[in-house]
Amino acid sequence: MKTTTSESIRKREQGILLMLTHVWSQLTQAHPLLTRPEDRRRSVLLAQMTLTITLVSALASLFLMAREGRVTGTVVAVWFADALTLGIYSLNRRGYFRAGSMLFVGLNFVLIHFAPLLTQDSAWLLFSGMLMIIAATLLPIRSMIVLFIASLAAQIILGYTNPMTLSLGNLGIGIVFTISTLIFLVFFAHRAGLERDQRAALETANLRLRENETALERRVEERTREAVAAKEEAEVARERAERADRVKTRFLGNISHELRTPLNAILNFVEFVTLEMYGPISPEQRDALQNSLSSGQQLLSLINDLLDMTRIDAGMMQLLIEPRVDVHEIVKPVLPMIPTMRGDKPIQFITDIDDQLPPVSADHRRVRQVLLNLLSNAYKFTEHGSVTLSIKHQHPYVLFCVSDTGPGISPSEQEVIFKPFTQALNVEHRLQGGTGLGLAISRWLVSAHEGNLWVESDAGDGAAFFFTIPVSDPQPSDDIQASAMPDPNRND
Ligand code: ADP
Repeated sequence: MKTTTSESIRKREQGILLMLTHVWSQLTQAHPLLTRPEDRRRSVLLAQMTLTITLVSALASLFLMAREGRVTGTVVAVWFADALTLGIYSLNRRGYFRAGSMLFVGLNFVLIHFAPLLTQDSAWLLFSGMLMIIAATLLPIRSMIVLFIASLAAQIILGYTNPMTLSLGNLGIGIVFTISTLIFLVFFAHRAGLERDQRAALETANLRLRENETALERRVEERTREAVAAKEEAEVARERAERADRVKTRFLGNISHELRTPLNAILNFVEFVTLEMYGPISPEQRDALQNSLSSGQQLLSLINDLLDMTRIDAGMMQLLIEPRVDVHEIVKPVLPMIPTMRGDKPIQFITDIDDQLPPVSADHRRVRQVLLNLLSNAYKFTEHGSVTLSIKHQHPYVLFCVSDTGPGISPSEQEVIFKPFTQALNVEHRLQGGTGLGLAISRWLVSAHEGNLWVESDAGDGAAFFFTIPVSDPQPSDDIQASAMPDPNRND
């Protein structure tokens, strides 16, 4: 029973304490506009000091009134000072913490240094030490130093001009003692609070730093793992692609080679029959045989292109460069093929070949192959007009040009057509058949000669294909570069 009563008393005490603490903290909390922790702490401190001083002074004035039995001049002075302190309190609670601090320190400075004149009691100057502590907590260090010098000067001047006694009564000492103790308490609470806040902020920052570090380490680990996995994957994919590429190249090489041999035999026999080596044939039979022959030749050139492309892809295409090749010798065998290329289209063949051309350093069969490819394209895509072959010496190259009056090639397609298996988007071009390999092979062959192959054309206004082959060295070496792979393509 006894225990229950004391427990309930304790609980009530705790409740009252809690309520008082709550009311106190509500009365002294900083304005939400103050965001810096340091300013918030100082604002709380100012609120606590102004409230404490007001309360203690009010109590002291009541006590004085009770003792004197009337409202004395001192009581009125204390009330006046209280009213001013309360004004500063409310200014601070509205967020004007700096102005409040200055006014508070200023007001106390004036009170402390003028009170001795009014009361002829220098005991008031005892408060000046306290004022310094207040200034140290509320104002910047510079203001505090100014205040210290001003106070010292005021005290010296007062000492000379108004020598007075230190006649503080017991009550006065009590008041000075109470107020200074309270102010010290508030000051140390403020310091402790500041340190607590700083420690907490430091710990939070540390914690966040450690969290960030761990997250960073985890992310680095993850990325490294991902990068390693991606690298391994890429490696596997590359190996697989290379293997597939090798298989494809070998397969294409074999199959093209295997196709060429019987096809050549078929073409030869068809030609023999056409030439009536096995007896006379009727005109209808000749026509049919001619058709078979030209289809067979198309097939053969397609197979040759595939074989060339396969070799280029595999890095196995090599040229048989001769140091001094006569350009006319390259061109001569091409000219008799023109009528076959033209067919029955009304196209004029124009040549503009310099008589005096320097020898070139070239694989003459391959240069002829490029020339044939460009000429057969020109005839393939041109319906009427002309095809011109011009060959000029433009040191250090011999410049070949095959131009036509065909449909031309739009600028957007002028690079695309040099990619393997690519044809211009024009439907008419596609109707002409072809694989889209000729230009890719030609460009490769020309650049293997250290020359260039390019096109100049306006869509609808013909096309001109140019390529350059370097002129022979003035002192040519007679070395002949041997081909790495036997080239079954050569049949001239
Ligand atoms: P193919 O002629 O077998 O299609 P090419 O690589 O020789 O392959 O040519 C690629 C494409 O370039 C052709 O399909 C055609 O669209 C375009 N082309 C080439 N030469 C000409 C030309 N003289 N006039 C117009 N277009 C051309």
